[in-house]
Formats: sequence, C-alpha cells, structure tokens
Amino acid sequence: MNTVVATPANPPRAGKVNLLDFDRDGLREFFAQLGEKPYRADQVMKWIYHNLEDDFEAMTDLGKALRTKLAEVSCIERPNTLVEKAATDGTHKWLLGMNQGNAVETVYIPEPTRGTLCVSSQIGCALNCQFCSTGAQGFNRNLSTAEIIGQVWVAAKYLGNITHQTRRITNVVMMGMGEPLANFDHVVRAMKLMRDDLGFGLAAKRVTLSTAGMVPQIDKLSEEIDVSLAVSLHATNDELRTELMPINKRYPLAELMGACDRWLARKPRTTITFEYTLMKGVNDQPLHAKQLIRFMRRYPTCKVNLIPFNPFPGTQFKRSETSVIEAFQAQLMAAGVLTMLRRTRGEDIDAACGQLAGQVKDRTRRSAEIRKRQNAEVTHAL
Ligand code: SAH
Repeated sequence: MNTVVATPANPPRAGKVNLLDFDRDGLREFFAQLGEKPYRADQVMKWIYHNLEDDFEAMTDLGKALRTKLAEVSCIERPNTLVEKAATDGTHKWLLGMNQGNAVETVYIPEPTRGTLCVSSQIGCALNCQFCSTGAQGFNRNLSTAEIIGQVWVAAKYLGNITHQTRRITNVVMMGMGEPLANFDHVVRAMKLMRDDLGFGLAAKRVTLSTAGMVPQIDKLSEEIDVSLAVSLHATNDELRTELMPINKRYPLAELMGACDRWLARKPRTTITFEYTLMKGVNDQPLHAKQLIRFMRRYPTCKVNLIPFNPFPGTQFKRSETSVIEAFQAQLMAAGVLTMLRRTRGEDIDAACGQLAGQVKDRTRRSAEIRKRQNAEVTHAL
C-alpha cells in the first residue's frame, strides 16, 4: 500500500461558473449567453473530457479573445485530491476534498478486460442501511454535478485515460458513497456527461446506477436517461429487509418489484442486477436462498450479484464463511438463477463495497449516536 498526499488542484475561484456543472445542452446555453455558437461549446467539451484539459489557454482552436473571455467568467474546477492510495491488487482509491472539511472516496478497480470506476454521489448517506459504513457516518449534503463528474475527470487524468484507444475507465458505477437517486438531478446530469460522445462516451450498459430502492425515482430515471440499473436487495422478505434497510418501510418489496417490472417493460432489452450482500447468520441460509430464487423467478433475464460482507470498525455484522457463500451461490445456480460472486477488491485500503467512509461532517445525529452505542458496547465488554 502506498499513500501519497497530492498537491491541491485548482484553487477555488469564487464567482466563476464551473463548466463541469453543465451537460452538453447546459454548456451550449451558457455559450449562447456569451454570444457564442453551439459548436464552440462542443469544442470546449472535447477539450475537457477527451483531452482532460483544464487550462483555457491550451484550447488553441478557440481563438485568443474567447479563451480570455472564458477565463474571466468561468473555470474548470475539479475536486482536490487529498490522499491517493494503491492497493496490492491494483485497486486505486482517491480521497477527494469537497468543502468545509468534507471528503468523498472514488475507487478504480482494474480487471483484465475492463476498468471500473466507483463514483460517490453524496457526502455521507441519509438512508442508514445497517451494514454500510457510509450510512454509519451520517449525512452532510448532495454532491454537485461538477463534484460527481469531477471524480471521473480526476481518475481519468491520473490513469492517462486520454483517448478512446488507451481508455482505462471502461465502466462507471454509481456505487460509491451515497444514494444516487436521492441526488437525482445532479447524478443524471453527471451520467449524461459520462454517456455523451463529447464527454466520456460510455455506452448505456457501461454506466450503472445502484439504488437502495427509491421507487418513484427509479421510474423517473427510466424516462430521463438510458443507463443500467442495479438494485440493492439483501433480503427478499419485508421483515428482514426493513431491519437491514430502513428505506424498505417506505418502499416495501411489492412496490420495489413494481418499479423493477416497469423498468424492464420500458427497456425490453435491458436487465437489472440485484445486489445481495451476504452476512453471516443474517441472510445467508438455505431458506434465504430459496426466497431469493422465488423472487428471481419474476426476473428470468436478470442476475444476482452476491457480495461477501465487508467489515468496518464498529459493525455488528460478519462476513459469511466461504463454504456458506459457495453453497448459497450453488443453490441459486442449480435453480437456474444467473449468479455472480463479486470478488472483494482493494480490501487492504478499505476500498471495498460498503467500506467507503470519506470524511463526513455529519449534520444528522446519527454518527454521534452510533459512536455512543459503540463506546457503551466496548465498556460493557470490558
Ligand atoms: N446507495 C446505493 C449504492 C451503495 S454501494 C445502493 O444502496 O445501492 C453498492 C453496494 O454495496 C450496495 O448494494 C450496498 O448495499 C452494498 N454494501 C453496502 N455496505 C456493504 C458492506 N459493508 N459489505 C458489502 N456490501 C455492502
């Protein structure tokens, strides 16, 4: 493991418009307000996302006057890299400073045939899923479009992701800190930039949004943008799911299934990935597998992604034994359910699913309460 404290990127430029906040339409609109033609906006987008250029002076096909004007009124400001870590398996993690002492994490996971970037959508998370370390940190605020797409920009720049031929980020998953559908507008705009040919140019199947199950927003998402959907399931009976994920009280399984049905009906050629984190003695028994098989009968074209639970300090949950995980997977596969087992990556730098914590200036009382409970438990154990 190696830790580098990088030098901050651009200093904050108060009063200037950050061009990373615009999707293509927004940028054209901004250029129209400056009295410029739409194709000028397209040129700038290519500089920003294809050449990863953040200095207007280097944008030589724009003309001196326009470059000067842009530098006066706007900036290309990405999050500052506070810490960057490399795991022994090649996984990379960036701690990116936002403001007021907050920071989020972004993770790059290289594999032989692809490279996946795991992007955060919020500082902390308000949903309080019991098994997630981000949840235990409480919530501060939504990230802006620039702060979301800026994570891809920073990673792409670091990785030398300059041209489509040498591209190292082939997939983006909105599976970092936060619930992406709770920050709908900014996440959609950032994903438009991931998909746009003048942006990062990723195909719909290579941009995945993972949700804990915000039903109305799943419907809205299918109307606004073409991306892939992953749904965090973790239990297929309401009692257990509500215990693990409080959002299930608001949107119980029947409603979530309705949203999944509508998603698939609107996009007949797509599938949904159902994520299922295996926790020892909680949801990993043959009975749970049987319930999951029954659930999946409704979704014969979809797949299950099993995730071994990743521990974090203070959690009451444990990872299932390897033999139990294998038996669970075998039971699903024997019933014809397409099942993948997500290999745990980046564990030595706490970069695995559910381990992203960043630095959250919690504005809820949750993190304080959890700390109090943990301290009480420790005292009790002593
Ligand atoms: N808020 C989104 C993104 C969360 S992270 C969502 O709920 O889908 C991506 C996945 O990791 C989710 O399925 C999440 O439930 C799972 N996860 C959270 N904490 C975990 C942990 N400690 N171990 C393994 N998986 C975890």
